[in-house]
Amino acid sequence: MQINGETKIVGVIGFPIEHTASPLMHNAAFQHLGLNYIYLPFLVKPGELKKAVEGLKALNVKGFNVTIPYKNEVANYVDELKGEASFIHSVNTVVREGDRFIGYSTDGEGFMKSLEEEGIKIKGKSVLIIGAGGASTAISFSLLKEGISSLYIINRGKERGEKLRNLLLKIYPNSPIHFFPLERKVFPSLLPEVDILINSTPIGMREGDPLLFNPDFLPSHTVICDIVYKPLYTPLIEEAKKRGNKVVTGLGMLLHQGAIAFRLWTGVEPPLEVMKEALYKALSSAKNKD
Ligand code: NAP
Repeated sequence: MQINGETKIVGVIGFPIEHTASPLMHNAAFQHLGLNYIYLPFLVKPGELKKAVEGLKALNVKGFNVTIPYKNEVANYVDELKGEASFIHSVNTVVREGDRFIGYSTDGEGFMKSLEEEGIKIKGKSVLIIGAGGASTAISFSLLKEGISSLYIINRGKERGEKLRNLLLKIYPNSPIHFFPLERKVFPSLLPEVDILINSTPIGMREGDPLLFNPDFLPSHTVICDIVYKPLYTPLIEEAKKRGNKVVTGLGMLLHQGAIAFRLWTGVEPPLEVMKEALYKALSSAKNKD
């Protein structure tokens, strides 16, 4: 990769940012296609987000991704929200159009693509999602859009869980959306009804993180998705695999949300296999676990 005066800059902002795998994925794609772009990680300290966005605009950056903890806040500093972002007020991709920054959310669509890739159908299915943060909001919105039969949201904090349920009910009135606080005792009665279970909390990222429910109550037909991608094989994914359940790791969502962003920035079709390989190399320290 040769950087010159015409190199276009994109990147990712967050705090912390060291964990991001996105630069590897996007730079591999730019290199493969011979595009004169570079993707950089930017650490933005709490309280400095507004200044950072203004700075990125002043420096003619072509676009950027947004990660923890700024997906909601950044929506206040872009010039316009488009698509899902305008409903859920969460932005993970910003695209420069002339002198304006446009905010998009590609997380929900990225997750749906990851299911599609695994041959998992959504319409009419009953879904349980653990977590009610930014990722859960984007995924839940997309699931309801695709016509799931019911959505069970389970979250540690009651306030955030109920807030998400109310937001979704505003967009999809009269939908079967239920909220339960995160307690082990809610799982035995809910799990038998669930076709797809999604972990959208960071539980599983740290070694020794517990399973959030007793897996003995897991029906064999339930598809288990964990959007945590570091590690790729979380305790939840390992347990589900051991029991013979179909699993979907966080790699697919990471890949596809990135691919949609790539297309928005460059107008070019992303080389999915190249991007997937770069991510897989970075994230799977134990290939034999596949
Ligand atoms: P977020 O907005 O900060 O939300 C985090 C959610 O997890 C909240 O519902 C929070 O509950 C819950 N939570 C946090 N710590 C918990 C704990 N110790 N026990 C139980 N619940 C806990 O974060 P996010 O953006 O949604 O991201 C969540 C995870 O998804 C992260 O690990 C992130 O890396 C991953 N992610 C993956 C992809 C991908 O492409 N694969 C994309 C986006 C995010 P409270 O409301 O009670 O705080």
